[in-house]
Amino acid sequence: MSLQKLADLIFPDITKIPADFISQYPKRELKEGARVTRYAPSPTGFQHIGGVFAALVSERIAHQSGGIFYLRIEDTDQKREVEGAIDDTIATMHNFGMDFDEGMTGQETSKGIYGPYKQSEREEIYKTFAKDLIVKGLAYPCFCTPEELNEMREKQVAAKITPGCYGEYAIYRNLSADEAIAKIESGTPYILRLKSPGDAEKRIQFTDLIKGETSFPENIQDVVIIKADGLPTYHFAHAIDDHLMGTTTVIRGEEWLSSLPIHVQLFDVLGFERPEYAHIPNVMKLDGDSKRKLSKRKDPESAVSYYKEEGYPRASVVEYLLNIINSTFEEWRMENPKADYLEFPVALDKMSKSGALFDLVKLNDVSKDVISKMPAEEVYTLYTAWAKEFDQEMYDIVTAHKEMSKAIFGIDKEGPKPRKDFGKWSEVKEKICYFYNELFSGETEVEFPKTVTVEEAKEIITGYKEVYDFNTTQEEWFEELKAYAVANGYAADRKAYKKAPEAFKGMVSDVAGAVRTALTHRTNTPDLYTIMQIIGEEEVRARFSSFIG
Ligand code: GLU
Repeated sequence: MSLQKLADLIFPDITKIPADFISQYPKRELKEGARVTRYAPSPTGFQHIGGVFAALVSERIAHQSGGIFYLRIEDTDQKREVEGAIDDTIATMHNFGMDFDEGMTGQETSKGIYGPYKQSEREEIYKTFAKDLIVKGLAYPCFCTPEELNEMREKQVAAKITPGCYGEYAIYRNLSADEAIAKIESGTPYILRLKSPGDAEKRIQFTDLIKGETSFPENIQDVVIIKADGLPTYHFAHAIDDHLMGTTTVIRGEEWLSSLPIHVQLFDVLGFERPEYAHIPNVMKLDGDSKRKLSKRKDPESAVSYYKEEGYPRASVVEYLLNIINSTFEEWRMENPKADYLEFPVALDKMSKSGALFDLVKLNDVSKDVISKMPAEEVYTLYTAWAKEFDQEMYDIVTAHKEMSKAIFGIDKEGPKPRKDFGKWSEVKEKICYFYNELFSGETEVEFPKTVTVEEAKEIITGYKEVYDFNTTQEEWFEELKAYAVANGYAADRKAYKKAPEAFKGMVSDVAGAVRTALTHRTNTPDLYTIMQIIGEEEVRARFSSFIG
């Protein structure tokens, strides 16, 4: 009776009981094996690549099982929500190919019948469950000041006993309801704690879907469930939300693994069936010889915006993340070069248990592969969309020469081994600028083949310019170049040259090298014939002339 009085005093406005909420949400109709997962960020406004990683695991697990993936906003810890953060989260995930079936759809809007999907709008629900726990003697008001708690902790540490608020150290745990009522009525501030039924001598067994079998001592701490501001802690809120929202599988960062005994206990105390848990490893990076967590402060690549600015296509980032999620992805990709990544079956039990190593070099490799398989048209569209935002000069030039640009992006695309020139859009300019006269004519740096001097190159081009024929097939063109080389004292091939180097000025590759330098200022480019066909006869001749000076 007095527990009821205490509960009413703490929550005078709460008139419902847990059963009211439990009956409000129907049990989900799911097909056998379907999983319900969620992405549950705090709306801080910073999109961390680790968030995309976690969301991708959750999204794949839900959708590949025919289940539901929803968005819940965990905003009970935030002093103030960053403006636009929810919209930004939705847009970011959409950009990476992930859409939510349910949950928040905008700053203030949502879809689905298991809401509200924003924790700050669920206060009544948390309080209803907390009130019920008080009535049942499973939760109590704690009047300790932060100073008292600190002092207790210091004493415990000095005495080498487990620090915290539990058992005999939880001074208000066994206060009678009447005493607690008197304290509240006299205006003493308080928070609510769980009256933990845990036994330090006992262990709980748990199978984490990623980490495997785990075993922990039972939780004995009287953890805070409702804070002084009336809002729930993460522990309490997630248990209630995941239960009411029908989450089958809680997929979240491994920093929560150590709290699992608390969570399991909360589910038990609240009378809920425990969900499955999967704790995903942190996104790490190699710093010198040691691995460390990808840091928001130190590593620009921790921000999702970095990938957009650098110009990694979203498909590259997703494929790369899948590579980290399951190392078997790479092999699968080799066996299924054209398949949609959605066909790859993500397996939680094959995930690395220690740390997901993030490596930009590897990302670039994956991305080169992804871009090499894209049709030229798509490369053009994605590149110009990027350039419009991040490189206006290239945007203007590339769109002014639309057809030529598509031809450039189409070089050597067909065939079993397409060229892998670009990993990200920011490296495109450097690799293709010589095609465009606007950029080529201003270049001052000219690379020559190691075996050819400036004078010799000019001499080669002076003569070659006269015999050059634009209208040939690739084979004819090369035969003609070879004939010109031989007529001018160059060996027809390496073998002939090696036999009697003193008899030749060089070999045919030196002549081709000079032509390449004259036309591109570079020694390493895609096929010369293709380049000439793309830039056109007039430009080829103009470049020869200006090269000789
Ligand atoms: N809001 C929690 C976080 O940001 C979510 C953890 C969870 O997914 O349960 O870490």
